[in-house]
Amino acid sequence: MLKKRFIAGATCKQCQKQDVIRWCKDSSTDQEWIECVSCGYHEDKPNEVMQAEHPQQHTDNMVHIVKFK
Ligand SMILES: [Zn+2]
Repeated sequence: MLKKRFIAGATCKQCQKQDVIRWCKDSSTDQEWIECVSCGYHEDKPNEVMQAEHPQQHTDNMVHIVKFK
């Protein structure tokens, strides 16, 4: 099963837009990657969550991201 979740406040490394990054995980193969819905950028198994520009505004969402990993 493929799970996808937007990372609140994350900025794309390539197009520099905010709130366009999705974290994806395929539970059948255990693969993880992130993708940008704006420019199509993707990265396999990111070892750090992209820095949020305004983490104080997304505290609840950030907690969910930690649980998801
Ligand atoms: Zn992008």
